[in-house]
Amino acid sequence: MDSVDALVIGAGAVGLAVARALAGAGRETIVAEAEGAIGQGVSSRNSEVIHAGLYYTPGSLKARMCVRGKALLYELCASHGVPHRNCGKLVVANTEEEAAGLRALADRAAANGVPVEWLTAAQAVALEPALRCTAALSSPTTGIVDSHGFMLALQGDLESAGGMVALGSPVKSAVLSRSGPHVVQMQDGSELACNVLVNSASLHAPALARRFDGLDARHIPREFFAKGNYYSLAGKAPFTRLIYPAPADAWLGVHLTLDLGGQAKFGPDLEWLDVRSPEQIDYAVDPARAEGFYAEVRRYWPALPDGALAPSYSGVRPKIYGPGEKAPDFRIDGPALHGVPGLVNLFGIESPGLTSSLAIGEYVASEILR
Ligand SMILES: Cc1cc2nc3c(=O)[nH]c(=O)nc-3n(C[C@H](O)[C@H](O)[C@H](O)COP(=O)(O)OP(=O)(O)OC[C@H]3O[C@@H](n4cnc5c(N)ncnc54)[C@H](O)[C@@H]3O)c2cc1C
Repeated sequence: MDSVDALVIGAGAVGLAVARALAGAGRETIVAEAEGAIGQGVSSRNSEVIHAGLYYTPGSLKARMCVRGKALLYELCASHGVPHRNCGKLVVANTEEEAAGLRALADRAAANGVPVEWLTAAQAVALEPALRCTAALSSPTTGIVDSHGFMLALQGDLESAGGMVALGSPVKSAVLSRSGPHVVQMQDGSELACNVLVNSASLHAPALARRFDGLDARHIPREFFAKGNYYSLAGKAPFTRLIYPAPADAWLGVHLTLDLGGQAKFGPDLEWLDVRSPEQIDYAVDPARAEGFYAEVRRYWPALPDGALAPSYSGVRPKIYGPGEKAPDFRIDGPALHGVPGLVNLFGIESPGLTSSLAIGEYVASEILR
């Protein structure tokens, strides 16, 4: 049987960042990826926003990983020539209730060590003349990144440190050991022994963990899938910054993001899917859902023309809680939690997972597996 020191399952942004950190710490590392290319999962179906860290409970993994990950991501983009732009974002209010929401957000940002600036309506409109609002919160450290360029840079660093990505290599199951190496079974029937096993299979992570013989089922959450649909704007973007409404409930509202080419898109919305496994997901974007966007968007951009939104793409959030439940923190479950040496399960790594990926890698390599 072949063996490797560390095996990471999944070559999305998070799996690659963890593998890069393990290889950088001197471990012999392989990433097993089911698909024929890296980054074909959630990492290629998102907003590509470098989140500042405004929204998350102070002290939570989401807050800590986002703020640290943002700094590491800007550094890596600069050092590796990954296309990105520190464009900033405005979170806007149009009612007194929303302004109160913005004030609470400003307090939370301060607790997370994230710079924000309060803007009056006149100050906000001076920056973005197409905008309508009664007040806004400016987040100067928000940005956008080319997620594929980022993942290619991660793969390059991994390979420079002696690691590799094995494409077309779906992992089927594993037999975990408390005294020796774990034995991982691949879909083609081959086996691989490893000391460290990181489950970074995202939408597939809970189902895969259920096929780990030796992991107590109480450490595996139930998975839920929540789709986010995007609609692109025909014509020139009316804003140079990202524009978000004051956040509501489980989701950040119909917001406007930009890509690096300057094209604007609206979304993602929140559509809970009635499916039990990722194989059943339909990624098609229903044109009819755009109807609900117009009224929402016109609250902050009254000039949105009729018929300007075209169905674009969708992504699905790897949720570990259902509709109406409170969003839990990221789960980075290591040996201290489940008692299996060398095993790390990553569950519920939804937004801001892309921003957080380098910090998650650092945390797994230096703390969870220390
Ligand atoms: C709509 C949407 C918008 C988002 N917007 C943002 C944003 O703007 N900013 C931000 O920071 N975050 C955002 N996120 C979150 C971010 O995209 C994710 O947290 C991040 O991409 C997750 O990366 P990952 O590596 O965990 O998952 P993935 O990219 O899904 O990687 C998992 C990989 O595992 C592989 N795999 C699965 N099963 C197996 C197996 N058995 N064997 C081998 N390989 C396997 C898959 O093929 C896949 O390549 C968004 C998410 C969504 C859904």
